[in-house]
Amino acid sequence: MLLLRDDRARAECASLQQQHTELVGAVHRGEADLARVQSDKLFATMRAALGSRMYDSMIPPEVREVLASGRVPGGTEIHALFDKLPFLGKQELGERGRSAFTRSVSEFLHYYESSGTTGSPSAAPKAIDDLVVNTINIGEMWGRFLRPEDVGLILINAPFAPAAYQFEKILEYLQVMSFRPWVDNITGDYTRVLRLVEELEANVFIGPPSRLLEMVQFAYRKGLPAPRFDRLLLMAEQTGESFVRHLERLTGATAYVASYGSSETGTPAVTCGHRKLHLQPQSFLLELVDDAGVRRVTGAADRGELVITTLDMPARPLLRYRTGDLVEIDDTPCPCGLSLPVLNTLGRSQDLLVLEENGIRQGDLEAALWADEPVGGTVFNYMMVVKNHRVLVLVTTDGDGSDEWSAGLAGKLRPLFGSYEVLVRAVPTLPPLASLGQYLGWKLSRVLDLNEERNWGRLPEPILAIVQATLLEVAER
Ligand SMILES: [Zn+2]
Repeated sequence: MLLLRDDRARAECASLQQQHTELVGAVHRGEADLARVQSDKLFATMRAALGSRMYDSMIPPEVREVLASGRVPGGTEIHALFDKLPFLGKQELGERGRSAFTRSVSEFLHYYESSGTTGSPSAAPKAIDDLVVNTINIGEMWGRFLRPEDVGLILINAPFAPAAYQFEKILEYLQVMSFRPWVDNITGDYTRVLRLVEELEANVFIGPPSRLLEMVQFAYRKGLPAPRFDRLLLMAEQTGESFVRHLERLTGATAYVASYGSSETGTPAVTCGHRKLHLQPQSFLLELVDDAGVRRVTGAADRGELVITTLDMPARPLLRYRTGDLVEIDDTPCPCGLSLPVLNTLGRSQDLLVLEENGIRQGDLEAALWADEPVGGTVFNYMMVVKNHRVLVLVTTDGDGSDEWSAGLAGKLRPLFGSYEVLVRAVPTLPPLASLGQYLGWKLSRVLDLNEERNWGRLPEPILAIVQATLLEVAER
């Protein structure tokens, strides 16, 4: 899967590919001894972590002593040692930079970083071994519904992050033709991308949903036909049911929330052909944490913040990494037949808009916006501006955006906002901020709190003038 000049590196890579493909096959058939695989890999990972300066102070001396002794502890013992390890926070990982590596920088294949919206970006380079494993994990799941005659558009505007490259490798693995264009974040000009989608008959979209929304909106504004796809492989943003249905209506496609993961962790859950995200226990040990404490993900129904330990990333192992993502483990058997537990993502823990005592989540708002077939105009996309006791919802729409239509939509949203006044205004475009959910998460990209003075600067013209005029108009009523 990689063109490598060096004979030894090529042979090692081929052998890892063979070995991991067999393991994934056994896992999918339900024939793998997962407990054994996990404890063997956990031991290897903890030993690898001894070679990283970051873990110097994090691995307690009594654990370090056993790991360094050369003796191989049994499964129960290794799990008991693991339970003594502290959590690793996002911020901590970002601050430690290269001291998280167990190899020198030049031994990696590509350098990447996480977006770092919640602190410093974390170094997230790809080494051959973790690239091979992650590609096979995803490829063997996507291979259930992608076909070699498909043509994939990979639209991920994040050159510092590994996602676009990683997904390109997966399509290579499946021998699906792909192209990976770039759209300027500021001009947001999709003309060439839309032309290529049409000319190449691209039928699979791979990327974050807000990027797709922006492309559909752009086509509408320019009077171009909306791009149609057969399948949408969405990732990198929280995409609840209403959002998924909205994108399906706009593009005529079947939408999959295609993978769950991040630059720094790799991909612990991947969709099957039945649109369920299945865990990848052959490469990750997962735990949940909440007020009730920490426990392993066993496959039984549960929810909490996901804590990830990587089992196949020896060059940069993560031990008990707190993701900040709220997830739910669903124990309903999936019709695809895989016995791997199903993961539902519930958004980032900080992605909660609190007004008075009301906690408003992305899914609540999008259910009100997008649950039903639209009447009088589809809302393509939205952004909320909060000022004093008012919420101004800016929307882009293919309708006329009349006062009556806006009042109708405001009425649908009002129950979510308690005593806040809710206003809706149609605008020709949203600030670029609204398409940056992939980097910023929902709240930072879609909610602008103008009670904080510096946030006014985040609104470009003509949006700024529209917001000012609307707020003024209301104030004078
Ligand atoms: Zn399934």
